[in-house]
Amino acid sequence: MAERPGAFPTWTEVAAAGGDCLLVVPIGSFEQHGPHLPLDTDTRIAVAITDEVAHLPYVVVAPPLAYGASGEHAGFAGTLSIGTEVLTEVLVELVRSARDSCAGVVWVCAHGGNAEAIRTAAERCRSERDRVHVWGARVDGGDAHAGRTETSLMMAIAPDEVRRDALAAGRTEPIGELLGELRAGGVRSVSSSGVLGDPTLATAAEGRMLLEALVAELSGALEAWWEAQRGVPA
Ligand SMILES: [Zn+2]
Repeated sequence: MAERPGAFPTWTEVAAAGGDCLLVVPIGSFEQHGPHLPLDTDTRIAVAITDEVAHLPYVVVAPPLAYGASGEHAGFAGTLSIGTEVLTEVLVELVRSARDSCAGVVWVCAHGGNAEAIRTAAERCRSERDRVHVWGARVDGGDAHAGRTETSLMMAIAPDEVRRDALAAGRTEPIGELLGELRAGGVRSVSSSGVLGDPTLATAAEGRMLLEALVAELSGALEAWWEAQRGVPA
């Protein structure tokens, strides 16, 4: 419904849809992403993806949730977390508040640490008969945090924000092997730089490819969910 990415409709434009629209909420975080990526990396990734669906006539993209649940990144300077409980409440309240203007809400999340809040919020919203759909920006075979995957995406989205002289590999074991340590002591106990993966392998070309694939996946998911919602009476 937006004229251009990052622009918002007026209330009259939303009202004109007569409830026949989806609210898409990008969800990020403000947490350490190694010495080479800015704290708002997840939010930028979520917004870069939702920007590409903002033109769809039945989509209203909301401003991003720029804070998430980032407790696992405590101990790194700059990380700001609102925690799982507060994030859950925020998500539920936004859905309640969108109830009268949109047919449903789609959460587009670029931070894995928000998963528990999203799961709990989705259950609560559905128990109140609100329609929510959860979509996570996941890359098959991608590394865990501030590594090749996220750095490639950022090289494509905001190349000037990537500190190339600070690129260095962190822990590169499969995340499954680090889970015990991670659960016990957070990322700080596993990687002193905060990196899980190898950002030195990142390229802008790979980032553009990943972004394109994520946008295509989200567009498909939106269309399918939209069609399904329209066939189901409230
Ligand atoms: Zn991230």
